[in-house]
Amino acid sequence: MSARPQVSYLTSTSSASSYSSSDSDLSSTSSVRHSMDSTQPIVSVEVLRCLRCARAEEITSTDDPSSMGMVQIGTNIYYCNRCAKMTGYK
Ligand SMILES: [Zn+2]
Repeated sequence: MSARPQVSYLTSTSSASSYSSSDSDLSSTSSVRHSMDSTQPIVSVEVLRCLRCARAEEITSTDDPSSMGMVQIGTNIYYCNRCAKMTGYK
């Protein structure tokens, strides 16, 4: 007859070893991708002015000047499509 309840304490120490596995994330290069939300591209608005007829076109830094009808003929120098055609740039 076993009238006394058997109380056994199960102390499992094996679950503690899985806690330190997050250290290995630093060495894996694939973990970099989760930071994409915090790095948004900086978009700046620029006004391109035609050198010839002074027509202004607002573009963002992600836009292509040629898609907005502006033709770049030099550093920060633009012609609009019409003037570029007249001067032979296009
Ligand atoms: Zn023009």
